[in-house]
Amino acid sequence: MNAPATPAGLLRPEILAMQGYRVPDAAGLVKLDAMENPYRLPEPLRAELGRRLAEVAINRYPAPDHPALRRAIRERFGVPAGHDVLLGNGSDELITLLTLATARPGAVQLSPWPSFVMYELSARFAGSRFVGVPLAADFSLDLPATLAAIDAHRPAIVWLSSPNNPTGNCFDPAAVERVLEAAPGLVVIDEAYQPFAIDSWLPRLPRYPNLAVLRTVSKLGLAGLRLGYLCAARPWLDELEKLRPPYNVNVLTEAAVRFALEHLDVFEDQAARLRADREALAKALGELLAGLPGARVFPSRANFLLVRLPDGPASFERLRARGVLVKDVGRMDPSLRDCLRLTVGTPEENRLLVEALRASL
Ligand SMILES: *Cc1c(COP(=O)(O)O)cnc(C)c1O
Repeated sequence: MNAPATPAGLLRPEILAMQGYRVPDAAGLVKLDAMENPYRLPEPLRAELGRRLAEVAINRYPAPDHPALRRAIRERFGVPAGHDVLLGNGSDELITLLTLATARPGAVQLSPWPSFVMYELSARFAGSRFVGVPLAADFSLDLPATLAAIDAHRPAIVWLSSPNNPTGNCFDPAAVERVLEAAPGLVVIDEAYQPFAIDSWLPRLPRYPNLAVLRTVSKLGLAGLRLGYLCAARPWLDELEKLRPPYNVNVLTEAAVRFALEHLDVFEDQAARLRADREALAKALGELLAGLPGARVFPSRANFLLVRLPDGPASFERLRARGVLVKDVGRMDPSLRDCLRLTVGTPEENRLLVEALRASL
C-alpha cells in the first residue's frame, strides 16, 4: 500500500516554498492598508440597490458572457470601438489568466520593481520566470534598463502598474511608448488607480496592437464586489476567454456593478474628494516630517501616499498600537526601506492617522 499523500510529498516545491498573499486582521482598527474607498453609497441608493438585488434570479447561473454588463462598461468607461472587455473576479483573476495563457516553457513575465506583488506571485504559480527591473531612484521607469531587460529576456508580458502600487507615481507616457514599441509580447498597463490619476491609456488602444489595459472597480469603491476588466482588441480576448471560468462573475456582482454604473457620478465625486484629501494629507504629513532625517512624502497620483520615516517598522507598530492599520512595504525591496503605504481615508481618518503618527515619532 502507498504511504498516505502529504502536501510536502505531492505539491510543487516552488508552491511549498512560497508565502501566500497575507491579509492582516483589521478588526477594530482604522483601516488604511488596502486602498479601499472609505465612502459607502448614500442611504437612498443603498435601499434602491437592495431592491434591485432582490429581483436577481440567484437560482440561475450567470449569463454566459455578460453582454449587458460588458456593454455598460464599454460605454461608461469609453472603451474604443473595435475593442472589448474580458471580465474577471477582480483584476487579480485576470492577472492569473494572462500569466497562465502565456506560460509556455521558458516564458518570462517582466515588470518594473517594486510594483504590484501579484505579477510576481502569478508568474510563480504558472511556473514562469519573473524579472523585476529596478525603478530609478525617483521611482520613474529606468528606460535604458527596462529596454535592455526586454531585449535580454523577451518577456511574454510586460506589466506596468500606472499609477504604480506601491510608489504612487505614473510612468512617463513617452517612456511607456518606447516599451510598447520594444516589447515582443503584450504590454499590460494596470490602471487600478485610474480614478485618482484621470489619465488613461484606453484611448490609445487602437494605436498599439500589443497593448491591453487592465482596470478594476475595486479602488473606485466596489472592492467587495470583485470585478476587474481587461480592455483589448478582440483577437486577444477571444483566446483569453477560453481560460475564463464560465461563471467567474456572479449574478449579484453583475447586478450591483450595473447599478453602480448608472450612478457613476456618485463614485466620481467620491474619487474627486479623495484626490483633494490626498493633497491635504500629503501637506499635513510633509509638515509633520519636515526636518526628520531621511523622512519624506512621495508624490502620488493614486489614493494612497508612500512615506519614508526614520524607522518604518517601529512607526508601523506604533500606529497599529494607536488603532491605525497601514501597510509596511519596507521589506518588499531595498528601495522601499522604512517606507509605509498609507491609504487616503475620510478627513477624520486622515486626522487620526496624522495624530497617531505625530505621537509615535
Ligand atoms: C488593488 C490592485 C489590483 C487588484 O484589484 P482587484 O480588482 O481588487 O483584484 C490590481 N492591480 C493593482 C496595481 C492594484 O493595486
